Amino acid sequence: MKRLLENLLNDCRHYTADGRLASYIPELSKVDRNDFGISVANGAKELSFAGDHDKKFTMQSVAKPFILLLALMDSGEERVHDLVGVESTGKPFDAFNYSDLALKRDHINPMINTGAIALCTLIKGETYKDRFDRLLDLMKKVSGNESLEVDEAVFRSETETGNKNRALAYMLKAYGMIEDDAEEVLYCYFRACSIRMTADDLAKMARVLAFRGKDPVSGEQIIRPEYARYINAVLMTCGMYDGSGEFAVKVGIPAKSGVGGGIMAVVPGRMGIGLYSPALDSKGNSIAGIKALEKLSRELDLSIY
Ligand code: GLN
Repeated sequence: MKRLLENLLNDCRHYTADGRLASYIPELSKVDRNDFGISVANGAKELSFAGDHDKKFTMQSVAKPFILLLALMDSGEERVHDLVGVESTGKPFDAFNYSDLALKRDHINPMINTGAIALCTLIKGETYKDRFDRLLDLMKKVSGNESLEVDEAVFRSETETGNKNRALAYMLKAYGMIEDDAEEVLYCYFRACSIRMTADDLAKMARVLAFRGKDPVSGEQIIRPEYARYINAVLMTCGMYDGSGEFAVKVGIPAKSGVGGGIMAVVPGRMGIGLYSPALDSKGNSIAGIKALEKLSRELDLSIY
C-alpha cells in the first residue's frame, strides 16, 4: 500500500501547480502550495501514508460533518432535520442568493456554511465556548488524537474577514432560524474551521465513519451507527459542494473537502482516507487531492456504485 500511495503522489504531483490557494481568509494564503500528502487507515493498526501526511493544516469545512454529528448526538435527528434539510443546493458553499425567497430548511444542507452555522445552535453547552470545547473533544475522540488544537492565527483571520459568513448568520437570524446571538454562533463555527490536523487524523476520523461508527482497531463504538450512516449519506450528496455530482461519478465515495486543502474520504466497510494539498479549484476543492482520489478509486475499485 505504501508503494502504491507513493506512486500515486508522484503521478498526481503536477496538479499541485494548478488552481489557487484560498486567499479570502488571508492567513490561508501563507501555506506552501507544494505540500501533498495522503494517509490511509484500514482495519489494521498502522496507517499507510506518503508525502506530507503529517503536515498540519486547518480543517475548514471538513469540520462540518462533526458539527452535524454533535448536533445529532445532542438534539436528535428530528430537530436537526427540522432546522437543516439534506438536499444538495447545486450552489457554492458560501452562496447567499436567497434574496427572492424566504430562507427555509429546504434551501440548506449541513455541508454548506449556512447549514453548519445553523447547526452550531443545536450543540449543547452553557456558552458557545463550552459548545466549541465539546466539539473539539468529540473530534479528539474520533481521531484518537488528544493534541488537536485551534490555529489561533487562522481563527483571528477568519473572524476579521468572514463578512460573508457573518451575513449568512444574520440572515438565519432575520428569518427566525436561529435565536442565539449571531456573533456567538459564528465564534463556534469559525473556531471549528480553524482546528488544525493532519491527513493522518482525517484518515482515522474517516475510518470511524467507514466502519459504521466503530473504531475497528480498538473495537469501540464511537458514533451511533445510524448517525454514521446519516453523515455518510450527506457527504455523498453534498460533501464536495457543487462538485458533488461529478465527484460521485468519478470517485464514488462519501467525502468532505475544506478550503484549507484537506479532503476526508470514507470507503464504507474498507477504509478512511485523508488527503492534503492546498491549491483549490474554482469550487474550493483541492485539485490534486481530487485527482489522487480519482486514480486511487480506479486502482482499488473504491466506488460504491
Ligand atoms: N471557514 C471557511 C468559510 O467559512 C470554510 C469554507 C470551506 O472550507 N469551504 O468560508
